Amino acid sequence: MSEASTLGAVSSLFGEAAQAGSAIRLYQHPSADHAEKVAATLACLKAAATEHAGHIVQATSLGVEDMVLTDLIARHALPVAIGTLETGKLHAETVALIGTIESTYKLSVEIYRPVQESVIRFVRDHGEKAMYESIDLRKACCGMRKLEPLARMLQGRSAWITGLRREQSNNRGGMQLRELDDQGRAKYNPLIDWTWGDIWHYVAEHQVPYNPLHDQFMPSIGCEPCTRAIAVGEDFRAGRWWWEDEKAKECGLHVHQK
Ligand code: SF4
Repeated sequence: MSEASTLGAVSSLFGEAAQAGSAIRLYQHPSADHAEKVAATLACLKAAATEHAGHIVQATSLGVEDMVLTDLIARHALPVAIGTLETGKLHAETVALIGTIESTYKLSVEIYRPVQESVIRFVRDHGEKAMYESIDLRKACCGMRKLEPLARMLQGRSAWITGLRREQSNNRGGMQLRELDDQGRAKYNPLIDWTWGDIWHYVAEHQVPYNPLHDQFMPSIGCEPCTRAIAVGEDFRAGRWWWEDEKAKECGLHVHQK
């Protein structure tokens, strides 16, 4: 069953109102080879941490996939830095997760924010709702609030780790476990073959903290103005930049320019 139909089917089947823990109850359906997937992901993380010792970061979006990776990194004390982009437009629930990670796992999260002068200028020139006006302005906002801070996060590093999965969207179908980004840096996607059910099974088994917005039918969570809950049968990323054409729906963090 595809991810979209799984989401649609379970939300339709249960008709469950959003409540704490409902995402776990609705979605945890491990694949038959779930244990092998966990082992392969851990092996990938260990190999990456060894190969890029001192120069590798998990760029966490604070979404549930990234929480699984952070849990594996912390649980196995892997020498991988944890970094996140605080765009200034995140939901309060998302920002609160930073503190939750630090207190749960006893590690510090590197926080990268946009350049304040750039934000002030952009908002002055284009307004707070510029992202809805055109794709160019939306991309400019993502560039200022995400891409530039990400470049700072990756500066001096030879590798980064993401929580991307093939199932998340058609645009991500061709991704690989280990890729090179546009700067020639290694980019690892250790959850590439995990299903949505695998993710939530791991969360349930290991009591991984997660964003409560996932309990409100938001499978993919970005900035507050650009994220909405999805309806029954809608695609996984339908709640992101929903006013745009499907092909435009990436913020640029994971798009090859060449
Ligand atoms: S996701 Fe929306 S608010 Fe966030 S940086 Fe992109 S356009 Fe701006």
